Amino acid sequence: MTASVLVVDDMEPNRRLLQAKLEAKYYTVFMAADGPHALESALRHEPDIILLDVMMPGMDGDEVCRRLKASAATRHIPVVMLTALTDRDDRLRGLEAGADDFLSKPVDDFGLFARLEALMRYNMVSNELRTRDSAGAREEHFSDFEQESLDKPASVLVIDQNNSEARRVAKSLEAVGHQAATWMDAQASSIRFDEIDIVIIALSDQNHDALKLCAHLRALKEARDFSMIVTCSVADQPKGVEALRIGASDLILTPLDMLELQARVRTQTRRKRFVDILRRRVDRGLELSVIDHLTGLYNRRYMLERLQLWMQRSAVNEKPVSIVAFDIDHFKKVNDRYGHEAGDLVLRNFAARLRTNIRPQDIACRPGGEEFLLIMPDTREELAEVGAERIREAIAAEPFLIERDDEYIKVTVSAGIATYNGEEGLLADFLHAADQALYRAKQNGRNRIETMAA
Ligand SMILES: [Mg+2]
Repeated sequence: MTASVLVVDDMEPNRRLLQAKLEAKYYTVFMAADGPHALESALRHEPDIILLDVMMPGMDGDEVCRRLKASAATRHIPVVMLTALTDRDDRLRGLEAGADDFLSKPVDDFGLFARLEALMRYNMVSNELRTRDSAGAREEHFSDFEQESLDKPASVLVIDQNNSEARRVAKSLEAVGHQAATWMDAQASSIRFDEIDIVIIALSDQNHDALKLCAHLRALKEARDFSMIVTCSVADQPKGVEALRIGASDLILTPLDMLELQARVRTQTRRKRFVDILRRRVDRGLELSVIDHLTGLYNRRYMLERLQLWMQRSAVNEKPVSIVAFDIDHFKKVNDRYGHEAGDLVLRNFAARLRTNIRPQDIACRPGGEEFLLIMPDTREELAEVGAERIREAIAAEPFLIERDDEYIKVTVSAGIATYNGEEGLLADFLHAADQALYRAKQNGRNRIETMAA
């Protein structure tokens, strides 16, 4: 996935250097040489991430960050401050201003790309949730209850073999209202991972392989929602970078500065709560409005919405979007002969096979009856044909078991493909083109696929 980055620095050589590094990794780069231009560019381009120099004449980086975070239009964009490694006051001021992360100048490639990836992961989740949430989730639309929950104290687990250091960390977090336990203390009682918001793991001076532990914690099913912060010495920074790669969301250098730690825990907590709120809203919204209850696929309403969106994207980025309209052959006979319950079982089984034979980016919908529609983003006609053929085969390969009577029903499906290349055209025309192709598949003997062009 490509992402866009806004680079803000008053020194041209610094801007050029970052631009070259980022473009080499296929990031889209916007640049600004001072605060006012940075604010304007952030508003106009809505970049995915902003790299912001602290020391600038006129409006400095802290002020730019404060203004970005104060505006509803730019608040959600992560800001990474570029600071001198040793300047503790810089960092604290940046965190006060709402910065999401720091990079030391000169910027090393490992640190840069690991942090960008960690932020992109966060962005991807929150953006996808935001587009799925029909209520248009932005912070200013949150209820009072949701707003309050953003700043509720966190439950933190501190993992460090040096238990006195772990206790010191836990104490400093408790001092600002969080609940914190060290691993050793927590083992005395039993840990409930689903109640933990943040895990802090020391990477340096540990007997066990702390990176393996990170990976292991990430893989725990009940624990997948907590944020992981790792700490390490400057000498162990490569380990820290690796930890960011495998899912840690922040890295703090030792010796720990407790004020920095408190500020970063606050940022991570807010971020986690924000995603939690979006996820809850989406779950609730999906239940109510976009899921077809019989099959669990998306319903007609969601289908039309997403299709419209992908057609618009296609018109802008010149990538085709394909749709495949499926219709189960002779479905009426199934209903007539075996009853509606059996008919529903066939629809459900069909949906299950459809779902296991599509790519993650494909969107499977049931607009109604025995009709199904697959939206295939960024997919040209020939590829859509390959995908549709795989599904047709998966359906015809094995008859469907109707458990009630231990009876098997042979089911086949016909499909019509249409591809949109960004030309003038309406959603209704696009759907009609797929229906026409489907009609021809039926005419030509069923259990087959036809394309628009044929
Ligand atoms: Mg500067």
